[in-house]
Amino acid sequence: VRFRPRTVRARLALSLAATLAVLLAAFSVSVYATARANLLGQVETRAREDLALVAHEVAEGPLEVSQMEDIGLVALYAVAVGDEPVNASSGWVKRGLPMSLPLANDPETKRWKSAEGLTYTCATTSLDIRGERVSIAVAQDERHVQKSLATLATILLVGSPIAILAAFLGASVLARRLLAPVGAMAEAAARITEEKLSARLPVEDETDEFGRLAIAFNRTFARIESAFEKTRRFTSDASHELRTPLTALRSVGEVALRDGADANACREAIASMLEESDRLARLVDGLLVLSREDANAYRARFAEVDLCQPASEVVDVLRVLADERGQKIETEIRPGLFVQGDPTILRQAVFNLVDNAIKYTPEGGTIRVGVRADGAGEALLEVADSGPGIAPEHREKIFERFYRIDADRSRASGGSGLGLSIARWAVGLHGGRIELETTEGKGSAFRVHLPRARAAT
Ligand code: ADP
Repeated sequence: VRFRPRTVRARLALSLAATLAVLLAAFSVSVYATARANLLGQVETRAREDLALVAHEVAEGPLEVSQMEDIGLVALYAVAVGDEPVNASSGWVKRGLPMSLPLANDPETKRWKSAEGLTYTCATTSLDIRGERVSIAVAQDERHVQKSLATLATILLVGSPIAILAAFLGASVLARRLLAPVGAMAEAAARITEEKLSARLPVEDETDEFGRLAIAFNRTFARIESAFEKTRRFTSDASHELRTPLTALRSVGEVALRDGADANACREAIASMLEESDRLARLVDGLLVLSREDANAYRARFAEVDLCQPASEVVDVLRVLADERGQKIETEIRPGLFVQGDPTILRQAVFNLVDNAIKYTPEGGTIRVGVRADGAGEALLEVADSGPGIAPEHREKIFERFYRIDADRSRASGGSGLGLSIARWAVGLHGGRIELETTEGKGSAFRVHLPRARAAT
């Protein structure tokens, strides 16, 4: 089972402490080994110097002395002649070093441990003196070295855990400080609810990782908030729009009932109610399109469409309306301009534009519908009229949902303020754009530019 602490903080501190422990262990072992090799090396060097001194002394003087004294600073040495140990210094005897040691000539230096647990570094050599084979051994007490090594080991063994503990605590405190923004973010995020979408995560430092994370989240929250706001507005606008024709329906019916109308008046009331219900149906259609637009429900139903098709169809359908109003529709529709698109949606966009042109152009006016290639090689659909034009302050806004320049006039002609917003969405869906050129009092021209399908020639 893998041990895994619950908090990131503990995980950070633990892994740091574990890493430090491994490093310290490796460091301690190598420091101890180096120090030991060095110190013992020094002892060995000293033993060799002693050996040289004793050898020189022995070569000069008599070989058999009952008790040899210290030679200079050399206190521990023993001598053997042939195969017989003959003598040793008083220190050698006192410490119980073996008399036979000079005879063990191989290897030249070795270590010897006394019964009391003291260790010695010994060096031996053999010389030929006056025809005799003389073996000499010297010993160096390792006590000081062992003491130093023990002190070093103690420091390392006690110091390392303290260092590791300090590192763990330090890392823990540091991690707590570093991770504080995450806690603050979690708290703030918990406070962001459907009712309070305007709250944002705190950003302490824009440049660090947490800051960037908070900024990214805040952008998402902003998008969610605006989507919510849009839905809310749409719903309230939509209910508002629905209420008007419903009220009209109701009051026409009520008046007819109350006045106990004759057959003619009844027919009139029914006609007017039918008109209102038509308006209602159109409005509901528009709302349906927009709600699907919001849900991004339109995708991938695209096919190659000749732009002349929706244009001609719409003109055919709406020509009756124009005739009723004594308007002329002039067309200049060229076939062969293909775009990738959904025929129904494209038709809806063209319909809304031509319908507007007819609605807002006074009786006897002229409407031109053209399909051709524009200067940049894109497909261009143009709907121009000789109507009143649109004042500059309204030119952007008329594309917004439910926006009408003159609500009463527009409503009287069946408008709901959705036509242009649907048209713009439809064109945008096809990767195109709508441009408006208008002169007040002279008329308007809506130009739809659409990218051409690749197969187009
Ligand atoms: P509506 O359903 O009211 O026509 P639209 O979104 O289609 O809604 O149009 C928004 C407003 O833009 C209309 O109320 C109208 O005042 C103005 N408008 C649209 N087309 C024209 C046009 N061809 N000439 C003058 N005004 C227009």
